[in-house]
Amino acid sequence: MKNIPLFERIRAAMRRYEDTHNYTCDVCGREVFGNERLCRACAEALPLHRGEICPRCGRSVAEAGVCMECRRSLPAADKMRSAMDHEGEGARLVVRFKTGEKYLFRTLADLMAPLAAREFSDCDLVTSVPMTASARRKRGYDQSRLLAEEIARRSGKPYAVCADKTRETAAQKTLSRAERERNLKGCFRAKKKTVAGKIVLVADDTMTTGSTASELAAALRRAGATKVYFLTATSVPQKTLPPAFSERQSGV
Ligand SMILES: [Zn+2]
Ligand SMILES: [Zn+2]
Repeated sequence: MKNIPLFERIRAAMRRYEDTHNYTCDVCGREVFGNERLCRACAEALPLHRGEICPRCGRSVAEAGVCMECRRSLPAADKMRSAMDHEGEGARLVVRFKTGEKYLFRTLADLMAPLAAREFSDCDLVTSVPMTASARRKRGYDQSRLLAEEIARRSGKPYAVCADKTRETAAQKTLSRAERERNLKGCFRAKKKTVAGKIVLVADDTMTTGSTASELAAALRRAGATKVYFLTATSVPQKTLPPAFSERQSGV
């Protein structure tokens, strides 16, 4: 205890307090008891993955087996999982989290941590999707890092910065797969010393086409990571990939 700096001890105490003192549901605002972050009705209404998922990328699929996206192009990550479909209240939670409601990282981590324990217990370290300093300034916080640090803390694994983002990239939303890949090409530089010989778990808020995950996973693998896993709060189900993406794909 003596060796732990005072501010670290205060920070840990504050975290313990925040972890155990919650009075209203993060979705509907109703009063909650027993320190839950969601009331029972809202928790039950979340689009949690209950049906079939793609064994590789983890998105919801209508029929068991590898999804169309992975069949078209296998993700560079070894295994990807997400807690919810990017729909309804699941999508709204992620959007709120990314647009100012920073505190929601705990609510999302509540849903992600059990998956980390079940699917990724062999990882050596947890990391986040790097963002540039200017992007972080714009948002005011690094949402992927907040999630990753929380997942690391809850799973008892170290958090480490494993890569830098070397340049700004255009928003991915309206781009086709090929455009997304071009947009991201070479934008991550992984840290050999940190990842060589390690199984790395990357935590992030959402997975749409998986292009970002693949670009980062490829960079980590090139730097010597033995395996790369991805864990997100939500993923876009196969049937609802962005129209711009699916339409252009169908013409290929
Ligand atoms: Zn509620
Ligand atoms: Zn898939």
